[in-house]
Amino acid sequence: KKLKKYFEIKGGIFGKKVGEVKAVDDVSFKLYEGEILGIVGESGCGKSTTGKAILRLIEPTEGSVIFNGQDVTKVSDEEMRRLRRDMQMIFQDPYASLNPRHTVEKIISEPLLVHGIGTTKERKEKVCELLEVVGLSSYHASRYPHQFSGGQRQRIGIARALAVNPKLLICDEPVSALDVSVQSQILNLMEDLKNKFQLTYLFIAHDLSVVKHISDRVGVMYLGRMVELATKNDLYDEPLHPYTKALLSAVPVPDPDHKSERVILQGDVPSPSNPPAGCTFHTRCPECMEICKTERPTFQPVTDHHFVACHLY
Ligand code: SF4
Ligand code: MG
Repeated sequence: KKLKKYFEIKGGIFGKKVGEVKAVDDVSFKLYEGEILGIVGESGCGKSTTGKAILRLIEPTEGSVIFNGQDVTKVSDEEMRRLRRDMQMIFQDPYASLNPRHTVEKIISEPLLVHGIGTTKERKEKVCELLEVVGLSSYHASRYPHQFSGGQRQRIGIARALAVNPKLLICDEPVSALDVSVQSQILNLMEDLKNKFQLTYLFIAHDLSVVKHISDRVGVMYLGRMVELATKNDLYDEPLHPYTKALLSAVPVPDPDHKSERVILQGDVPSPSNPPAGCTFHTRCPECMEICKTERPTFQPVTDHHFVACHLY
Protein backbone atom coordinates (compact mmCIF):
# COMPACT_ATOMS: atom_id res chain seq x y z
CA LYS A 1 0.00 0.00 0.00
CA LYS A 2 1.44 3.33 -1.13
CA LEU A 3 4.88 1.80 -1.20
CA LYS A 4 7.75 4.21 -1.79
CA LYS A 5 11.46 3.77 -2.03
CA TYR A 6 13.53 6.90 -2.55
CA PHE A 7 17.30 6.65 -2.81
CA GLU A 8 19.31 9.70 -1.85
CA ILE A 9 21.88 11.01 -4.30
CA LYS A 10 24.88 12.41 -2.47
CA GLY A 11 27.48 14.69 -3.95
CA GLY A 12 30.20 17.23 -3.29
CA ILE A 13 33.10 16.81 -0.87
CA PHE A 14 30.76 16.72 2.16
CA GLY A 15 28.60 13.99 0.65
CA LYS A 16 25.48 16.10 1.12
CA LYS A 17 22.16 15.05 -0.30
CA VAL A 18 21.85 16.64 -3.74
CA GLY A 19 18.79 14.85 -4.95
CA GLU A 20 16.84 11.64 -4.85
CA VAL A 21 15.78 8.83 -7.13
CA LYS A 22 12.16 7.87 -6.73
CA ALA A 23 12.73 4.21 -7.57
CA VAL A 24 9.30 3.20 -6.30
CA ASP A 25 6.81 6.03 -6.04
CA ASP A 26 3.47 5.25 -4.45
CA VAL A 27 2.75 1.73 -5.64
CA SER A 28 -0.30 -0.17 -4.38
CA PHE A 29 -1.57 -3.59 -5.41
CA LYS A 30 -2.90 -6.84 -4.02
CA LEU A 31 -1.33 -10.22 -4.42
CA TYR A 32 -3.83 -13.02 -3.90
CA GLU A 33 -2.92 -16.34 -2.34
CA GLY A 34 -2.17 -18.93 -4.99
CA GLU A 35 -1.87 -16.54 -7.92
CA ILE A 36 0.99 -15.56 -10.16
CA LEU A 37 1.17 -11.83 -10.56
CA GLY A 38 3.53 -10.71 -13.30
CA ILE A 39 5.19 -7.30 -12.96
CA VAL A 40 6.63 -5.91 -16.18
CA GLY A 41 8.59 -2.83 -17.14
CA GLU A 42 11.85 -1.58 -18.64
CA SER A 43 14.99 -1.54 -16.50
CA GLY A 44 14.88 1.20 -13.90
CA CYS A 45 11.08 1.15 -13.60
CA GLY A 46 11.29 0.02 -9.99
CA LYS A 47 10.07 -3.54 -10.34
CA SER A 48 13.06 -5.19 -8.62
CA THR A 49 13.08 -2.51 -5.95
CA THR A 50 9.40 -3.22 -5.30
CA GLY A 51 10.17 -6.93 -4.90
CA LYS A 52 13.06 -6.29 -2.55
CA ALA A 53 11.12 -3.72 -0.51
CA ILE A 54 8.33 -6.26 0.04
CA LEU A 55 10.87 -8.60 1.65
CA ARG A 56 12.65 -5.68 3.30
CA LEU A 57 15.88 -6.67 1.62
CA ILE A 58 15.87 -2.92 1.19
CA GLU A 59 13.88 -0.77 3.63
CA PRO A 60 10.89 1.00 2.09
CA THR A 61 10.89 4.79 2.56
CA GLU A 62 7.14 4.86 3.10
CA GLY A 63 4.07 2.70 2.83
CA SER A 64 3.13 -0.69 4.14
CA VAL A 65 3.33 -4.32 3.07
CA ILE A 66 0.58 -6.42 4.58
CA PHE A 67 1.33 -10.13 4.57
CA ASN A 68 -1.20 -12.43 6.27
CA GLY A 69 -2.65 -9.44 8.08
CA GLN A 70 0.68 -8.27 9.42
CA ASP A 71 2.51 -5.10 8.35
CA VAL A 72 5.92 -6.38 7.33
CA THR A 73 7.41 -2.87 7.51
CA LYS A 74 6.61 -2.58 11.22
CA VAL A 75 7.65 -5.93 12.67
CA SER A 76 10.72 -6.48 14.84
CA ASP A 77 13.88 -8.02 13.39
CA GLU A 78 13.08 -11.25 15.20
CA GLU A 79 9.59 -11.38 13.71
CA MET A 80 11.01 -10.46 10.30
CA ARG A 81 13.36 -13.43 10.50
CA ARG A 82 10.36 -15.71 11.02
CA LEU A 83 8.45 -14.04 8.20
CA ARG A 84 11.37 -14.62 5.82
CA ARG A 85 10.64 -18.34 6.00
CA ASP A 86 7.34 -17.63 4.30
CA MET A 87 8.73 -15.20 1.75
CA GLN A 88 11.70 -16.13 -0.38
CA MET A 89 13.34 -14.58 -3.40
CA ILE A 90 14.70 -16.06 -6.60
CA PHE A 91 17.28 -13.83 -8.22
CA GLN A 92 17.88 -12.82 -11.80
CA ASP A 93 21.43 -13.96 -12.18
CA PRO A 94 22.06 -17.59 -11.25
CA TYR A 95 25.76 -16.95 -11.87
CA ALA A 96 26.09 -14.20 -9.29
CA SER A 97 23.60 -15.38 -6.68
CA LEU A 98 25.30 -18.70 -5.83
CA ASN A 99 28.52 -18.63 -3.82
CA PRO A 100 31.16 -20.19 -6.11
CA ARG A 101 33.15 -21.59 -3.16
CA HIS A 102 30.21 -23.50 -1.67
CA THR A 103 28.97 -26.91 -2.70
CA VAL A 104 25.40 -27.22 -3.90
CA GLU A 105 24.58 -28.97 -0.63
CA LYS A 106 25.86 -26.06 1.40
CA ILE A 107 24.05 -23.54 -0.79
CA ILE A 108 20.67 -25.26 -0.57
CA SER A 109 20.92 -26.12 3.12
CA GLU A 110 21.98 -22.63 4.15
CA PRO A 111 18.44 -21.28 4.68
CA LEU A 112 17.67 -24.36 6.79
CA LEU A 113 20.72 -23.66 8.91
CA VAL A 114 19.85 -19.97 9.23
CA HIS A 115 16.38 -20.85 10.49
CA GLY A 116 17.64 -23.68 12.70
CA ILE A 117 15.66 -26.34 10.87
CA GLY A 118 16.53 -30.05 11.18
CA THR A 119 19.61 -32.03 12.14
CA THR A 120 22.62 -32.32 9.84
CA LYS A 121 21.27 -35.63 8.55
CA GLU A 122 17.79 -34.26 8.00
CA ARG A 123 19.16 -31.26 6.15
CA LYS A 124 21.20 -33.57 3.91
CA GLU A 125 18.08 -35.57 3.11
CA LYS A 126 16.11 -32.42 2.44
CA VAL A 127 18.78 -31.20 -0.01
CA CYS A 128 18.57 -34.48 -1.96
CA GLU A 129 14.79 -34.27 -1.99
CA LEU A 130 14.91 -30.67 -3.24
CA LEU A 131 17.41 -31.51 -5.97
CA GLU A 132 15.00 -34.15 -7.29
CA VAL A 133 12.08 -31.73 -7.05
CA VAL A 134 13.84 -29.21 -9.32
CA GLY A 135 14.92 -31.85 -11.81
CA LEU A 136 18.50 -32.42 -10.63
CA SER A 137 19.90 -35.42 -8.72
CA SER A 138 21.30 -36.09 -5.28
CA TYR A 139 24.72 -36.77 -6.83
CA HIS A 140 24.87 -33.09 -7.74
CA ALA A 141 25.00 -32.17 -4.04
CA SER A 142 28.77 -32.32 -3.73
CA ARG A 143 29.45 -30.24 -6.85
CA TYR A 144 30.16 -26.54 -7.21
CA PRO A 145 28.11 -23.92 -9.11
CA HIS A 146 30.65 -23.56 -11.95
CA GLN A 147 30.04 -27.20 -12.88
CA PHE A 148 26.49 -26.39 -13.94
CA SER A 149 24.83 -24.65 -16.87
CA GLY A 150 22.81 -21.46 -16.40
CA GLY A 151 19.51 -23.33 -16.36
CA GLN A 152 20.82 -25.84 -13.82
CA ARG A 153 22.10 -23.03 -11.64
CA GLN A 154 18.69 -21.42 -11.63
CA ARG A 155 17.27 -24.81 -10.57
CA ILE A 156 19.70 -24.73 -7.65
CA GLY A 157 18.55 -21.19 -6.80
CA ILE A 158 14.94 -22.38 -6.86
CA ALA A 159 15.78 -25.37 -4.64
CA ARG A 160 17.42 -23.02 -2.15
CA ALA A 161 14.34 -20.79 -2.10
CA LEU A 162 12.07 -23.79 -1.54
CA ALA A 163 14.14 -25.25 1.31
CA VAL A 164 12.19 -23.50 4.06
CA ASN A 165 8.73 -24.27 2.57
CA PRO A 166 7.83 -20.67 1.72
CA LYS A 167 4.34 -19.49 0.77
CA LEU A 168 5.42 -16.58 -1.40
CA LEU A 169 8.22 -16.46 -3.94
CA ILE A 170 9.38 -13.16 -5.33
CA CYS A 171 11.00 -14.06 -8.62
CA ASP A 172 13.18 -11.26 -9.97
CA GLU A 173 13.62 -11.95 -13.67
CA PRO A 174 14.47 -15.59 -13.02
CA VAL A 175 14.86 -16.45 -16.71
CA SER A 176 16.25 -13.20 -18.17
CA ALA A 177 19.87 -14.36 -17.99
CA LEU A 178 19.10 -17.73 -19.62
CA ASP A 179 19.09 -18.88 -23.23
CA VAL A 180 15.66 -18.73 -24.81
CA SER A 181 15.63 -22.53 -25.22
CA VAL A 182 16.15 -22.97 -21.47
CA GLN A 183 13.71 -20.26 -20.43
CA SER A 184 10.59 -22.30 -21.11
CA GLN A 185 11.97 -25.29 -19.19
CA ILE A 186 12.48 -23.15 -16.12
CA LEU A 187 9.08 -21.47 -16.54
CA ASN A 188 7.40 -24.89 -16.80
CA LEU A 189 9.26 -26.07 -13.71
CA MET A 190 8.16 -23.00 -11.79
CA GLU A 191 4.56 -23.52 -12.81
CA ASP A 192 4.69 -27.17 -11.67
CA LEU A 193 6.26 -26.23 -8.36
CA LYS A 194 3.66 -23.55 -7.81
CA ASN A 195 0.88 -26.13 -8.09
CA LYS A 196 2.73 -28.82 -6.17
CA PHE A 197 3.53 -26.63 -3.18
CA GLN A 198 0.59 -24.19 -3.40
CA LEU A 199 2.89 -21.24 -3.85
CA THR A 200 2.15 -17.63 -4.69
CA TYR A 201 4.46 -15.79 -7.08
CA LEU A 202 5.30 -12.21 -7.71
CA PHE A 203 6.98 -12.71 -11.05
CA ILE A 204 9.11 -9.81 -12.29
CA ALA A 205 10.10 -9.64 -15.95
CA HIS A 206 11.23 -6.99 -18.40
CA ASP A 207 8.98 -7.95 -21.25
CA LEU A 208 5.41 -9.01 -21.62
CA SER A 209 6.10 -12.21 -23.54
CA VAL A 210 7.84 -13.94 -20.62
CA VAL A 211 4.96 -13.53 -18.16
CA LYS A 212 2.19 -14.15 -20.68
CA HIS A 213 1.83 -17.89 -20.11
CA ILE A 214 2.64 -18.07 -16.46
CA SER A 215 0.67 -15.13 -14.98
CA ASP A 216 -2.91 -14.86 -13.75
CA ARG A 217 -2.70 -11.08 -13.60
CA VAL A 218 -0.11 -8.67 -14.92
CA GLY A 219 0.97 -5.23 -13.72
CA VAL A 220 2.94 -2.76 -15.83
CA MET A 221 5.35 -0.31 -14.20
CA TYR A 222 6.88 2.85 -15.61
CA LEU A 223 9.33 5.15 -13.80
CA GLY A 224 8.53 3.90 -10.31
CA ARG A 225 4.78 3.76 -10.73
CA MET A 226 2.24 1.10 -11.55
CA VAL A 227 0.46 2.30 -14.67
CA GLU A 228 -1.81 -0.64 -15.42
CA LEU A 229 -2.89 -3.83 -13.68
CA ALA A 230 -5.37 -6.37 -15.00
CA THR A 231 -6.13 -10.02 -15.48
CA LYS A 232 -3.89 -11.53 -18.12
CA ASN A 233 -6.61 -11.72 -20.76
CA ASP A 234 -7.75 -8.15 -20.22
CA LEU A 235 -4.22 -6.81 -20.31
CA TYR A 236 -3.15 -8.63 -23.47
CA ASP A 237 -6.46 -8.38 -25.35
CA GLU A 238 -7.60 -4.94 -24.26
CA PRO A 239 -4.67 -2.94 -22.97
CA LEU A 240 -5.69 0.57 -21.90
CA HIS A 241 -2.53 2.46 -21.03
CA PRO A 242 -0.60 3.84 -24.02
CA TYR A 243 2.62 2.46 -22.51
CA THR A 244 1.18 -1.04 -22.24
CA LYS A 245 -0.01 -0.77 -25.84
CA ALA A 246 3.49 0.19 -26.94
CA LEU A 247 5.07 -2.70 -25.00
CA LEU A 248 2.57 -5.14 -26.45
CA SER A 249 3.08 -3.95 -30.00
CA ALA A 250 6.76 -4.82 -29.60
CA VAL A 251 5.95 -8.46 -28.76
CA PRO A 252 6.22 -10.52 -31.96
CA VAL A 253 2.94 -12.15 -32.98
CA PRO A 254 3.33 -15.61 -34.54
CA ASP A 255 0.04 -15.37 -36.44
CA PRO A 256 0.68 -13.64 -39.83
CA ASP A 257 -3.04 -12.79 -40.23
CA HIS A 258 -3.01 -10.92 -36.96
CA LYS A 259 -2.45 -7.32 -37.91
CA SER A 260 -1.03 -5.16 -35.22
CA GLU A 261 0.51 -1.80 -35.65
CA ARG A 262 3.84 -1.30 -34.06
CA VAL A 263 3.88 1.70 -31.74
CA ILE A 264 7.30 3.26 -31.70
CA LEU A 265 7.94 5.27 -28.56
CA GLN A 266 9.73 8.57 -28.94
CA GLY A 267 12.86 9.20 -26.90
CA ASP A 268 14.39 7.36 -23.98
CA VAL A 269 13.04 6.61 -20.54
CA PRO A 270 13.57 9.85 -18.58
CA SER A 271 15.88 9.78 -15.56
CA PRO A 272 14.14 8.61 -12.38
CA SER A 273 16.06 11.33 -10.51
CA ASN A 274 14.28 13.97 -12.55
CA PRO A 275 10.98 12.47 -13.72
CA PRO A 276 8.62 14.57 -15.87
CA ALA A 277 5.79 16.41 -14.09
CA GLY A 278 2.21 15.22 -14.36
CA CYS A 279 2.00 11.83 -16.04
CA THR A 280 5.61 10.63 -16.09
CA PHE A 281 4.92 8.99 -19.46
CA HIS A 282 3.80 12.22 -21.13
CA THR A 283 7.19 12.90 -22.78
CA ARG A 284 6.81 9.72 -24.82
CA CYS A 285 3.08 9.24 -25.02
CA PRO A 286 1.49 9.32 -28.52
CA GLU A 287 -1.82 10.36 -26.92
CA CYS A 288 -0.54 13.09 -24.61
CA MET A 289 -3.02 15.86 -23.77
CA GLU A 290 -2.50 19.25 -22.03
CA ILE A 291 -3.64 17.95 -18.63
CA CYS A 292 -1.06 15.14 -18.78
CA LYS A 293 1.82 17.62 -18.53
CA THR A 294 0.78 18.96 -15.15
CA GLU A 295 -1.54 16.52 -13.42
CA ARG A 296 -0.54 13.12 -12.23
CA PRO A 297 -3.22 10.58 -13.15
CA THR A 298 -4.44 8.44 -10.25
CA PHE A 299 -4.28 4.68 -10.41
CA GLN A 300 -7.89 3.59 -10.38
CA PRO A 301 -10.23 0.81 -11.48
CA VAL A 302 -11.93 1.07 -14.88
CA THR A 303 -13.73 -2.23 -14.40
CA ASP A 304 -13.69 -4.59 -11.40
CA HIS A 305 -10.24 -5.98 -12.03
CA HIS A 306 -8.71 -3.56 -14.47
CA PHE A 307 -6.72 -0.65 -13.02
CA VAL A 308 -5.06 2.11 -15.00
CA ALA A 309 -3.33 5.44 -14.32
CA CYS A 310 -4.15 7.57 -17.36
CA HIS A 311 -6.25 10.67 -18.03
CA LEU A 312 -7.86 9.00 -21.04
CA TYR A 313 -9.98 6.91 -18.67
FE1 SF4 B 1 -0.54 9.46 -22.13
FE2 SF4 B 1 -1.79 11.34 -20.77
FE3 SF4 B 1 -2.43 8.80 -20.39
FE4 SF4 B 1 -0.11 9.76 -19.53
S1 SF4 B 1 -2.12 10.35 -18.81
S2 SF4 B 1 -0.45 7.85 -20.57
S3 SF4 B 1 0.41 11.20 -21.14
S4 SF4 B 1 -2.72 9.98 -22.26
MG1 MG C 1 15.93 -5.55 -11.99
